[in-house]
Amino acid sequence: MKCTNCKSSDTEKFFILKNAPVQSIVTIKTYEDAIAVPKKDLTLTFCNNCGFIFNSTFDTSLDMYTKGYEDQQGFSATWMKFITDFTERFIDKYGIRNKNVIEIGCGKGDFLQIICKLGNNQGIGIDPAYVPGRLEENPNLRFIREFYSESHGDLPADVIVCRHTMEHIYDNHTFVKTIRKAIRNNPDVIVLIEVPSIVRILKINAFWDIFYEHCSYFSPGSLARLFRWNKFDVLDDYLEYDNQYLFLEAKPSDEITETPHPAEESVAELKNYVDQFVVTVNEELDKWRNRLQKMKEDNKKVVVWGGGSKSVGFLTHFNDMNVIKHVVDINPHMQGNYIPGIGIQYVPPKFLETYQPDSVIIMNGVYEKEIEKMLLEMNLKPELISL
Ligand SMILES: [Zn+2]
Repeated sequence: MKCTNCKSSDTEKFFILKNAPVQSIVTIKTYEDAIAVPKKDLTLTFCNNCGFIFNSTFDTSLDMYTKGYEDQQGFSATWMKFITDFTERFIDKYGIRNKNVIEIGCGKGDFLQIICKLGNNQGIGIDPAYVPGRLEENPNLRFIREFYSESHGDLPADVIVCRHTMEHIYDNHTFVKTIRKAIRNNPDVIVLIEVPSIVRILKINAFWDIFYEHCSYFSPGSLARLFRWNKFDVLDDYLEYDNQYLFLEAKPSDEITETPHPAEESVAELKNYVDQFVVTVNEELDKWRNRLQKMKEDNKKVVVWGGGSKSVGFLTHFNDMNVIKHVVDINPHMQGNYIPGIGIQYVPPKFLETYQPDSVIIMNGVYEKEIEKMLLEMNLKPELISL
């Protein structure tokens, strides 16, 4: 099995997740359709040459993003504050004012809206899953409902942003080459990449962050190596959001860049995290199974808060236990829909007022304060368990 990033054959499998639903955040209207979502095995594979981790049994023929893909985060105050602060810093760092910004995989356009408002920039969003009408009108924005390709290289670009997209792409070698080719006449363009960090997943056994929609798992080192080896200079490489999100900033270079960025961990260091994970993740899964079993025996009402991929990643391991019957999400576009492969229906926070849960498992600890406040406003004080 060849590494999809560096093409080395020196790779090894280290973790298999059986029967993972192939989709996690698509909107599904009925229970029958939800459980009919195909399930496939996910095989995490480590590259000993560049440190990249990928699902080597990923089915590239699946069409996941052109119908009902629901990934909007802008409904959370915590996320809005983070992304606004981050964008202000990014604008200051590179003087992104009155510039042309292209966002590859822009989703519903939330980030593009923010960077164009804060910096008075012109934005073009490229994404087959874009849905018109979700954002307030802004004449500085336009959207192209397509997958990114070399032909988009003719669009005006001072900045190219690509947030939470590369983890869904199987062949990132070709993807990065496509960006590099597209910007060949534009040596000053700044490229900003954001993906989840695999380092945190490995260090804390965050098994809920491993699910089928993500076929590519980057670390500061493997992401920087991918860009350096495809003729980019890495300007910065860092973690944010409780070390969950990995950011890389780069600009084109004439040659392959050999010198590592100071933030890159070595392949050997990453291999140590992988070896440790192989042992400890099963202990963590056993611990959770026992905990949920105890809750079931005690007739506790347990809900998950936070829909989307993390809840699919979590419930894939425990749905057979039938302990968790409801998943809460604040995104109004998800409420009423059923979770792919799992079959549980999303409920709005208000549902808990009558349900009166004993325990709330929070899929992302970053939101604990925000969730605790919403629960208190409903006079609820359940046990909070944050992942
Ligand atoms: Zn590799």
